Amino acid sequence: MKIRITHLELNWITVPFAKPYALSKRYGTLSSAQAVIVKVHTNQGLVGLGEADPMNPFTEETPATVCAVMRDHIAPVILGRDPTQIGALEMAMDEKIQGNLQARGAINMALHDLAGKAAGLPVHALLGGKIVDGLPILGPIGSGSPDEDSVSIEQWLDMGYGTIMIKMGALPIADDIRRMVAADKAFGDRMNLIVDANQGWSTFDSLQFVHGIQGHWPRLIEQPVMRHDLEGMRRISEAALCPVSADEGVMSLQDARAHLEHRAASVFSIKVSKNGGITKARAIAQMAQAFGVKILMNSMLEFGITQAASLHLGCTLPNLLDVGHAYMSVVRMKEDVTDFASNLQGGTVIVPERPGLGVEINDEVLRKYTAERLEIS
Ligand SMILES: [Mg+2]
Repeated sequence: MKIRITHLELNWITVPFAKPYALSKRYGTLSSAQAVIVKVHTNQGLVGLGEADPMNPFTEETPATVCAVMRDHIAPVILGRDPTQIGALEMAMDEKIQGNLQARGAINMALHDLAGKAAGLPVHALLGGKIVDGLPILGPIGSGSPDEDSVSIEQWLDMGYGTIMIKMGALPIADDIRRMVAADKAFGDRMNLIVDANQGWSTFDSLQFVHGIQGHWPRLIEQPVMRHDLEGMRRISEAALCPVSADEGVMSLQDARAHLEHRAASVFSIKVSKNGGITKARAIAQMAQAFGVKILMNSMLEFGITQAASLHLGCTLPNLLDVGHAYMSVVRMKEDVTDFASNLQGGTVIVPERPGLGVEINDEVLRKYTAERLEIS
């Protein structure tokens, strides 16, 4: 009996954070994360897991649009089809669905999970095999005073983390300059410091930052300006003596191409949910490689399914930036709906070897945080 997709089950969840997260001027202080957890059921009893992590206005999508697009546009394309034919299904969906990369990403993860389970192989093996057994993790800290930053950085350091992502862009630029200089003086010899402004600066703010930190360079400045401002990104890239990374700016393969053509960034932040799944994220990473652009495996405010998908891709990439990558998202949550945290060992994440994505869902936790459930057949 050939394997076929029989029905989809969507769970729209809201899970509080362990503590509030001061992200940026643009996104404010957040207290919970929302996701749509997808189960793709088959006639053989195998279930593929996927996850969408929409966060308006970071993404154009919301949990409600993800559910609607799945029901009205994706399900009609994939129901009854063989889930292991990922390339053919991606092409079929590309023909029928414009954008909606989060909804597409959740399905693509679930197809990889099913293909791996059907073959008895971990997803990284389907991608040509892992290059490393594990990756170092970065710890993010929200916006605070230099003293508050120092306390937060110490906490990650104590847990064995070697890379810190400092969120900026919520405070006046002079404060962010002080924070960078203070963090580098206190921790720069022991840790990789990354700055993420989440589109919170103008080009002039960014140039002030670059000159104001007086040589206290971070390893990376991420998305200083608005996502479509490629000219601003190029000017900052030329002025900075550290790489500038595009995150919000690189959603699609076409976004990546535009950044490469404009020399707007020398690092791309890849997120498998933002980029439309493993297949599309991988295409971006491979195109970047041809231009000498490195990859930071980054994350939305996401749960264990997306994190696992990101890890299976990340461990196969030859052009990863030599810093920690974002595999601690589930630690931020009051509870995860999966067992992904079992792969975390201090400041390192170990690639799971179970078939598929290698994560199990905890149905009790899933039910607890599900606000809306939808079955599509
Ligand atoms: Mg970012």
